[in-house]
Parts: sequence; C-alpha cells; structure tokens
Amino acid sequence: MARDMDAYLRQEIQSTPFCPGCGHGILMGAILRAIDGLGLPMEKMLFVSGIGCAAWIPSPHFKADTLHTLHGRAIAFATGAKLYNPELITLVVSGDGDLSSIGGNHLIHAARRNLDMTVICANNMIYGMTGGQVASTTPLGAQSSTTPWGNEEPPFDLCRLVASAGARYVARYAVVQPLLLQRAIQKGLKKRGFSFIEALSPCPTQFGRRNKMGDAAEVLKGLQASLVSRKHVSKMSQEELRDKVVYGEFVDG
Ligand code: SF4
Repeated sequence: MARDMDAYLRQEIQSTPFCPGCGHGILMGAILRAIDGLGLPMEKMLFVSGIGCAAWIPSPHFKADTLHTLHGRAIAFATGAKLYNPELITLVVSGDGDLSSIGGNHLIHAARRNLDMTVICANNMIYGMTGGQVASTTPLGAQSSTTPWGNEEPPFDLCRLVASAGARYVARYAVVQPLLLQRAIQKGLKKRGFSFIEALSPCPTQFGRRNKMGDAAEVLKGLQASLVSRKHVSKMSQEELRDKVVYGEFVDG
C-alpha cells in the first residue's frame, strides 16, 4: 500500500487484497498521487466502483466517500450522485469486465452524454476476481476459464470506443508508466466533462498464469515490451504492430 499517501488511506486497513504482482496497487498509488498533486479536497470527492479486483482500489482503502456498487453499474450510480450534487468531484475506478463488458452500455452513453466525471478503467483483459472468464477486452487467441482453447472474438479498443462516443479526454497508459499514468489522471480530473483513462494493469494470477506468461516480474516486463507510443505508430508496419499496445493521449478536447 502507498504508505507515503497515508493521509488518504483508512488506517484500519493494513493491507490490500491484491495478489503479488497485480498492477492494481501501483494504480492505487498513481490515483492518490494525482489527487495529492492537484490538492483536491477528499471531502468533495466521491469514489465509485463496481465489482471486481479493481473495484477494491478505492473501497475500502480511501479515506473518503466511496460507493462500492453492483457489477457493471458504477457509472449509473456515479451519474445519480452527480445529478444530486453537481459539486462532487466524481471518480469511477473499476475493471474492464465491470466497466466495459457488463457495464459497457453505461460507459458508451456516459461518454456520449459528456457527463462530468472521470472514469479510470483498470484493464487486465479478463474477469480477475470472478474466475478468469473471457471479457470484452480479452485478446484474440488468449485463454481464459471460459475460452480454454483461445478467445475467438476480437476485443474492444476501449479508448477508440469512448473517443468515438464523444469523451472529452481519453488516454491509455500502463502501470509500468506510473508518472505518465498519474499525469493523465490529473488531466482527466481537471477536465470538465467525461474523461476516460485506461490503465493497463496486469493480472498474473488469472490472465498471466493461463497464458503462460511467467512469473509476476515477467508479466510486468512483457507489458513493458508490448508498449508503443501513439506518436510512433504511423512509422510502423502492421506486422511490427502485431501484439503491441498503443499508449498515449487520444482525445484532449
Ligand atoms: S486476480 Fe488478478 S486482478 Fe485480481 S488481484 Fe489477483 S492479480 Fe490482481
């Protein structure tokens, strides 16, 4: 746990529930450092999450108002809270299964309606907590508990999805890029309207183990090696881009 961010953490919670090597602890630190850097008052913030490992990032850890809601319904709850109190700084933190698979329709329409909230999607490309099932973000050919012979369906590109729906700010960074991730979260929080930050956060337990990616350190190294800046994409061939993940800011309106 980010002990240097102690002031933002509930003292009675002594450890996180995350597996060794999970990216969610790093993401938790990036979120708190972003808030600290902006000097945002926690008493004006509302953290909303759905169900899944990433949903445990704000709740129970953050010393603030948190809503731990139904699976796939974090954005719907956040919308209601924001309508009731427009002064709230509303930050949704949840996983790809929760936000884009079960809750995909809420995500698309929140972006289309340009609701004033920041959504951080911890994308580990699988349902981690509920058993390692295939998600809408699982890569083609990847194994999950429900696709033991490999996923046959193409995944969503979440940034392209929300960008095309109308999001005001869209960025993707990995937890192995903590400073870039923190800066993107800060930009999202400062923006009026709908901001979406995709945080690539590896799951060595459910995804890495099934897909034989090695131990937790090797999973992190593999993620690092797969990253390509969007500034370099135009110079790369389709062959070079295969198995790569493009990071950067996609919308900054
Ligand atoms: S199951 Fe995966 S996502 Fe969940 S805590 Fe463990 S490593 Fe992280």
